[in-house]
Amino acid sequence: MSHTNHPYASIILRTCVAALFLCGWATSWGQSPDKHKQPRYSKYFTDKTLRVEYYRVGNSHWDTIELHGYGSKRQWAGSGKVLLDPFDYGTYRVLVKDRRTGKEIYSRTYNTLFHEYCDTPEGKDSVARMEEVVLLPWPKAEVDICLQKRDEHQQFQTSKTLHFDPACTPIAPAIDCGRISHEPTVRLQYNGAPRKKIDIAIVPEGYGPFDIDKMLDDMKNFTEYIFSVEPFKSRREDFNVWGVLQPGESSGITDPTKNIRVNSTVGASYGTFGSDRYLMTFYLFQLHCVLGSTPCDHIVIMANSETYGGGAIYNFYAISAVTSMSPHILPHELGHSIGGLADEYVEEEGSYADIHKTPYEPTEPNITNLVDFEKKWKDLVDADTPIPTPPCTLDNPMGTCGPVGVYEGAGYAAKGLYRPVMNCMMRYYAPFCPVCTRALNAIFDIYL
Ligand SMILES: [Zn+2]
Ligand SMILES: [Zn+2]
Repeated sequence: MSHTNHPYASIILRTCVAALFLCGWATSWGQSPDKHKQPRYSKYFTDKTLRVEYYRVGNSHWDTIELHGYGSKRQWAGSGKVLLDPFDYGTYRVLVKDRRTGKEIYSRTYNTLFHEYCDTPEGKDSVARMEEVVLLPWPKAEVDICLQKRDEHQQFQTSKTLHFDPACTPIAPAIDCGRISHEPTVRLQYNGAPRKKIDIAIVPEGYGPFDIDKMLDDMKNFTEYIFSVEPFKSRREDFNVWGVLQPGESSGITDPTKNIRVNSTVGASYGTFGSDRYLMTFYLFQLHCVLGSTPCDHIVIMANSETYGGGAIYNFYAISAVTSMSPHILPHELGHSIGGLADEYVEEEGSYADIHKTPYEPTEPNITNLVDFEKKWKDLVDADTPIPTPPCTLDNPMGTCGPVGVYEGAGYAAKGLYRPVMNCMMRYYAPFCPVCTRALNAIFDIYL
């Protein structure tokens, strides 16, 4: 049994010990739950959000989960129709089962910083303890919350089962962030009820008490950058954008390469896992604290620094510095965080050259190792386009050339992984390719 320092841990663990339903084996990749048999929202859930905070502890060989606590403050902003994840792009999955019947009533897949850590040299053997948060619709009756991850055969296996009883499981007020005085949330773009829209919450990072005007201007600019590219542009009415007006103590972003240390709102820093431009935060509990009651399907951290940098993880968060490159960086990062898309570039020197190495198809929709290409974008490739497709010459670095095909070099690897076009937003800031566009539109649809 795992340990936690949380004051409610003993009560939570005691109720969990009584759990009878094991979460068991899950569906394999590609055999997603039947989209037409979605559970009825109003039968199982109220209009509130249940926030589950936990630590993932371990390294590339093993990991375990320690519950930190449950929180609730927000209305449910997620889908009211598509409760079971139809795509399963992520490495991890939260699966909720009705306790009385065992029926699967909610699932979402996601990725984590911990997963990336495991692919760094340090993550091979050193043990890390990392914060993670999942958001669920608030159950009406007792449920089992199964926290799962894929095994080496890509099957989801349950790491931990949490028994949650809405009538008696304690909600920890401490994790609802009593210390932080919440400034109001601004509607940067409002198109309708959060349950029927994709809600993006912008969290300002590295803005001091005297940066409020800049913060608001930057939020408005960020909103425009998101909707300056397709398919976000023509789907603009399907999104709400919220700005959290929460200035920190001082200005700027921590950058170890420049010896800059800032006590910023959510603790973001350049130099994550040894990469200068990889700007991320490990403080997920604080991040969700700061969000407070802001409706939120996806988080964008807006980092007040002119140094190029950013990052994003599927159904986790996206972050971008406020630089002249933000109009390009931001849609790319949302491709990861909202769309579950993989990078289409090659970076064999980095830590992640092997992160997509698998005898199965990678789970992301926009890269393939040709093991099961039928399931990817074969239907978008003309019959006379060779597979693999020979490269063509780009006339400019942010342009593209050639038809939709299968071009070698993707997902950080120069060999063995393939991308749909020569250049795409997920490679070097060209427009999203037809494969990425289709995947994004399909994801947008589940929120409406
Ligand atoms: Zn990327
Ligand atoms: Zn693409």
